[in-house]
Amino acid sequence: MLTKLDQSGYEGVYRVEDAASGLRGYIAVHSTVRGPAAGGLRMRPYAAEAEALEDVLRLSAGMTYKNAAADLPLGGGKAVIIGDPAKDKSEALLRAMGRAVEALEGKYWTAEDMGMSPDDMAVLAQETKYVAGLGQGDFASGDPSPVTAAGVLGCMEVAARHAFGSSNLQGKTVAVQGLGHVGMYLAEGLHRAGAKLIVADTNARAVQEAMERFEAVAVAPEAIHGVEADIYAPCAIGGTVNMGTIPEIKAKLICGAANNQLASRRERMLLEARDILYAPDYVANGGGIINVAAEILKIETRAPWVAARLGRLEETMDQILNRALRNRQTPADVADALVEERLTVKAA
Ligand code: NAD
Repeated sequence: MLTKLDQSGYEGVYRVEDAASGLRGYIAVHSTVRGPAAGGLRMRPYAAEAEALEDVLRLSAGMTYKNAAADLPLGGGKAVIIGDPAKDKSEALLRAMGRAVEALEGKYWTAEDMGMSPDDMAVLAQETKYVAGLGQGDFASGDPSPVTAAGVLGCMEVAARHAFGSSNLQGKTVAVQGLGHVGMYLAEGLHRAGAKLIVADTNARAVQEAMERFEAVAVAPEAIHGVEADIYAPCAIGGTVNMGTIPEIKAKLICGAANNQLASRRERMLLEARDILYAPDYVANGGGIINVAAEILKIETRAPWVAARLGRLEETMDQILNRALRNRQTPADVADALVEERLTVKAA
């Protein structure tokens, strides 16, 4: 059911097919230099196989960077299933994917991603040991969002010291885009820290909740990036920091949970030119993978372990922003370079 493809720059890329269940997808193991490759399983109605392959290649490489940035003894991998999760998901299909993961003998650990739930992970777990993101069990990590939000908040405080001279967020205005799983926890933490909130979400109920619980001021989703704020926290979708929005951003710091916040590499220099400090996304949002890693690594004392790793994430952010200032490089370039250094040595 696994066919290995020839793909340079990757340790192993496999096409997965099981005729009986209708499973079609890919597993990409980008790197195991620092440990077993870890990254979620995504199910999407990709228009073509080539699109699914492109996604798995991009996402698995991204996981190598995110796991190394969080200083975890894990490499990067990802899996995708071609299909509509609402219509095409079945027990047989999930079990077949579980067998494919098992066949890689621990080179790749899977977990929940778009189109998957903890219940789906439990189905995969009937076929493989190499699955995390379970709802129940000795080391089950549950919802990663509160840990992700805690990591973003900690990194925001570090970055605030670089941008404003103090890590104290009291009285700072933060524009939070997206009040979903992570954004709502982040808004809660910011409110507790004494920050003023401006929020936007396409879901009116979430906006209402933030207004009631955190005295947040609401604006339209298309206006949030450009409001008068000290910090812009993208927590919805990727690409909201782009050549069109950057000229309108008034915040001096960007730090949020969303993946791939910068639309392309071009934005790195434009942010520098506008003197906007960018806290690299895959560092700031590393709390989610730290949470999952505690399950993969079977950590007995989860809470202190996670707290220590979040502290390390803040140190990494500080190191990146210091080096960026010293070397007159963009924080995103420094983050990439730092990860590439970490990839030359095996994790402790
Ligand atoms: P989510 O789907 O729970 O929340 C996203 C929210 O954004 C929703 O409330 C949605 O209505 C809103 N939204 C969508 N489009 C919008 C727009 N144009 N303007 C304003 N609001 C919009 O997702 P989440 O789990 O909170 O994750 C948020 C982001 O953080 C994603 O990019 C995700 O990949 C990333 N991330 C999440 C985690 C995690 O632990 N959940 C970890 C790392 C990274």
